[in-house]
This record gives sequence, structure tokens and C-alpha cells, in this order.
Amino acid sequence: MSQKPFSSLKLHADVLRNLESLEYEVMTPIQAQSLPPILAGQDVIGQGKTGSGKTAAFGLGLLSRLDVSNFEIQSLVLCPTRELADQVAKEIRRLARATKNVKVSTICGGTPFRIQADSLSHGAHILVGTPGRVEDHLRKGTMNLQGLTTLVLDEADRMLDMGFQETLDIIIEQIPRKRQTLLFSATFPDEIQSIAARIMIDPVMAKVASTHDSDTISQRFFQVPDDFDRLTALRLLLLKFRPESAVVFCNTKRDAQEVAADLREHGFAALALHGDLEQRDRDQTLLRFTNKSVTVLVATDVAARGLDIDSLHAVINYHIASDAEVHLHRIGRTGRAGSKGSAYSLISEKENYKLALLQDYLDQIIVGESLPPIALLKGTPPKPAMATIVISAGKKQKIRPGDILGALTGAGGIAGAQVGRINIFIERSYVAVHISAARSALRKLAEGKLKGRSFRSRLLRGHPEKKRDSRKY
Ligand code: AMP
Repeated sequence: MSQKPFSSLKLHADVLRNLESLEYEVMTPIQAQSLPPILAGQDVIGQGKTGSGKTAAFGLGLLSRLDVSNFEIQSLVLCPTRELADQVAKEIRRLARATKNVKVSTICGGTPFRIQADSLSHGAHILVGTPGRVEDHLRKGTMNLQGLTTLVLDEADRMLDMGFQETLDIIIEQIPRKRQTLLFSATFPDEIQSIAARIMIDPVMAKVASTHDSDTISQRFFQVPDDFDRLTALRLLLLKFRPESAVVFCNTKRDAQEVAADLREHGFAALALHGDLEQRDRDQTLLRFTNKSVTVLVATDVAARGLDIDSLHAVINYHIASDAEVHLHRIGRTGRAGSKGSAYSLISEKENYKLALLQDYLDQIIVGESLPPIALLKGTPPKPAMATIVISAGKKQKIRPGDILGALTGAGGIAGAQVGRINIFIERSYVAVHISAARSALRKLAEGKLKGRSFRSRLLRGHPEKKRDSRKY
């Protein structure tokens, strides 16, 4: 934690006293970096996970701009889930104790719309909500954001993961351009950069951890003896390092298929990504990997082009690439967004010439290690964290992420924190749910309705090569 006291900031004495009573003695790193520009009225992009103190960073900012005598909504905080919105509202209320009569309201799905509309009609200074329900109120004219001065997107990466991009665009279109925009996100995939470029003005970056550079990837090379089966060598690496998500690069399509099939046969949640897949199979394969219901993606370089995957724990080269640049491109996919990545390569005697090229290119000596002990083959492969549910309704049926989230998390449903990525296609939607909640989620979907209608839903299993997944939805 940085040692800067809050008193180094231009905060009202009452606010400082309140922080003291909350026992916030010094600023957390994200607060130390982001609060000065936030209090100066600048747009700020902050890197902040739950636990970093990000809520107080933007909370103190929006409270400092608040005019309590004005009953218009002045700040809107958008969060991916109801649980987070409740948590954020609670923290803002604690911070607001120093100022009299501040009204903070939460606007999320799962609470009757009419009650919220009624509460909104009595005025509120700060709204904390989920995008779907806020959009509903805007559409029905029960919320007016014309007096807004501060917009906060909290856990922006998770909101985009959950498919809220369009909803956010609709909301942002309806708020004043002249405002302060604060965006907090744990990771910074391209979509975050692009939304920031569209909706923010000269944002200041407040990052705490250094992002990906060569130091954040550890590279190791494993020697496969000539008489040793390479498929077994790969399994040894996966069982030894147990990455939560890994891309295995193969030089040919045939290898990719064979490797994925072998891994599946040995209990790994693995799928192949190669040029022969039909578009729908490619979409499904990618979404199952990015939503964490498949742990190993076996890909060719061509098929992996343009792949934008965050928080990839490991890249494994089943065969080393012939070109050093391709090699670097492959391993650069791990260790993104400040998280440490690992790259493992299998090499055999016959491939030593490629290794020599790579050594020249990297200007470093590469030492091949022995494979992990064979006894590891007795271990069980890591299980995916999530399961994918496919629903037979999509954009055509006007399904939005909020509808699916609402159907899953309403009364008797699963917790918002157990819902992962939501992807909506023309006639189908996919939602990732925590594996332990998959059954309850399916039951809830079967009993409930989406847009007033019942739709079929099922767990997405199997793999595209097996035509089990080629049903209509
Ligand atoms: P957040 O990352 O916003 O969810 O905050 C994590 C927790 O840290 C919350 O319980 C806050 O009340 C607490 N907190 C935030 N800022 C500070 C601080 N400067 N010193 C001590 N605790 C803090």
C-alpha cells in the first residue's frame, strides 16, 4: 500500500474525518494514482479489481462533485451484477456519511420495475445499477439522466464479457456529453480500449501493476526423446503445470485434430480450432474457451489469428514454429494484462535447427529441460470452472443479456457471481455458469420465461467433430 494520507488531497474536512472513522488511514495504490485526476475533474481509466479500493476512488470523486440541493440524478455507476451494485451502493453510502441528505439508489433487475419507477420519481442523487434495468427505465421514460455530471463504468471488462456493449451504448447516447467519465476494469482487452476511445476525453491511466512485457512471460523448453510419444509429453506438461486455460499450438490442422482428440480421450476439456470448422462451430469453440468451460484450445496459427483472449495462463508449442516471429507471436498471447504467463515448448533432436534460429533471434541460449516425471500421468486433468448453456433464442427474439441474467438470478435462481460470459447470436444465446450451479441454472431456465416465452436450453457438451452439437440451436 502506498503511504500517502488522504489529507494530501483536496477533500473537505468532514470527508477526511469520515475516512478516519472508517479507519482508512492511507490511500491504496489505485486511490493514490486515480484520486488526484478524478478530483481535478478529468476522465480516468483505472485498473482495479474488487479489493483494491476502487469503489472509494470513484465514490469520493463523485461525492466531491455532488450538489445536494439539486435533486437531479448527478452520478450513474453501472455494474455488471446486482451483487456488485449492492456492494458499491453500500460503500458510497458509508463515504457519504460526511455529507447530509445524499440519496443513493440501486436500480437492478430482480426488483419490481414499478417500485423502482416510484422511487425514481422522488429523486436521487446517485444511481448504482445494472445496464439492462437502467436501459429499461430510460426507454420507458421513468429515469431522466439530463442532469448527469459523472458516469462510472465499474468492472467494465466483465460488463463487456456479459454482452452489455450495446446496452451501454444506448445508455451513453442518452446522457450529457459534458460529463466526467470514470472507467474501472481489472483487464484491458481491445474492447475496453475501443469503448474508452469512444466515450472518454483524454483519459488519464491509473494502473497499478505493470502490464505485459517480456518479463511477464516465463519460457521453458522441454526435450522430447526420439522414442517418446509427443502426445504423452504434452499431457505431462498439462498435468504438471495445470494451467486454467491454455492454447496448444500445432503446425498442422491434422495435428490439431489429433491432439485435441487425444486430450479429450484422457479426460481434458479440449477443443480444436482449425480452418476446416464451419463458422458456427468456430464460434462455439471460441466462446466455450473464452467463457472457461473448455480449458485447452488446440489451434493452428492461421485459425488463431485475431484471437483475442485475455488471461491466458499458458501457451504450449506442440511443435515449435518454423519462424521465430511466429513463435514470439504465439507466446505473446499469454501474460497479458498484468498477469504472469507461461510458455512451454516441446522440442526434439530433429527440431534443433529451429531452436538454433530462435536462439539467434532472441539472442539468448536456450536450454532444454527434461520432461516432468511419467508418474504424473496418473493424475486427473484440471476441470473447467464453468459450463455453457445454449438457449434456443437470440437477437431475432430480441433477447438481451439482462433478460438472461434476470431469468437465471431471479427468485430461487443462482447468484449473479455464478454467471459468466453471455453471447447472443441471431437465433441462439450462450451463457456460462459456474459448474456447480449448472443444474440449478438449467432448472431455472426450464421453469422460467424469457421475454414472456419459454425456450429450450441445454448444456453444450461434446465437440464439433462429433455431430452431436449440430442440432439446430
Ligand atoms: P473495493 O476494492 O472498492 O471493493 O474495496 C475493498 C475494501 O477496502 C472495502 O471494504 C473498503 O471499505 C476498503 N477500503 C477502501 N479504501 C481503503 C483504504 N484506503 N484503507 C482501508 N480500507 C479501504
